[in-house]
Amino acid sequence: MIIDAHTHLNFPVFDNDRDGVFARMFAADVSAITVGTNKETSESAIALAKAYPGKIWATIGFHPGHVIEAHAWHHDKNEQKSPLPEVFNENIFRALAREKEVVAIGECGLDYFRNPSEGTKKKQAEVFLEQVAIAKEVKKPLMIHCRPSKGSQDAYFDLLALLPKDFASCGVVHFFVGDKDVAREFLDRSFAFTFGGVLTLTSDFDDVVRFLPDEAILIETDAPYVSPKAFRGKRNEPSFILETIKTIAALRGKIEEDIISLTTTNAQRIFSLK
Ligand SMILES: [Zn+2]
Repeated sequence: MIIDAHTHLNFPVFDNDRDGVFARMFAADVSAITVGTNKETSESAIALAKAYPGKIWATIGFHPGHVIEAHAWHHDKNEQKSPLPEVFNENIFRALAREKEVVAIGECGLDYFRNPSEGTKKKQAEVFLEQVAIAKEVKKPLMIHCRPSKGSQDAYFDLLALLPKDFASCGVVHFFVGDKDVAREFLDRSFAFTFGGVLTLTSDFDDVVRFLPDEAILIETDAPYVSPKAFRGKRNEPSFILETIKTIAALRGKIEEDIISLTTTNAQRIFSLK
């Protein structure tokens, strides 16, 4: 079994043909963690996980791109039907976090690429820490979204500084674009990393993919975003994950089956998948 550790099958962009997407992924023996980004998509992630037990799991969280500070509001119609911004309500997410289909809290973190103003950064940090507190309470790992400003590692270092020293339930840093120094810091805090289709488009992350230990690597599609090279221009979906597996296998000098086996074992361990 292959595990796509970060995907958005819950998003409205799949509403018209979700059954076909599921049929193709299950035929390719792919299971997936479906990630919430706000209240609406966290609830729909749980609904999908309930419908496909043992094949789909959910996360609940509030994406830093949704943290509102004046005009800084990111609306993506692939992601949510309503164009209205949402204010993070920790009580709603605390209740969702306890659902048994929920295997992690997030995606949560810092996004300095989309939301670079100082006021937004402060608010993002607050909303992130509220979600870390929820993760601690329910003893579930974090699904971190952390995107530095262009050409910088700033958001990674700020996020590492925010993480409480006693935070033990760790998690993954999704769509990791940091360098080896940043990776080492997260490894010291027992975090792992997901990599996706971007590896087929650029060699920027080759060094870090070669550098990481076996137990710190997971794979994702982040569908509907960032299709691998072979499917460029198409909406991404979990059945396309084999392209990323092939790329990681080539970078690490392994066969594809080894990459599948280690990434599946890592996802099952970190997210306690059943
Ligand atoms: Zn995502």
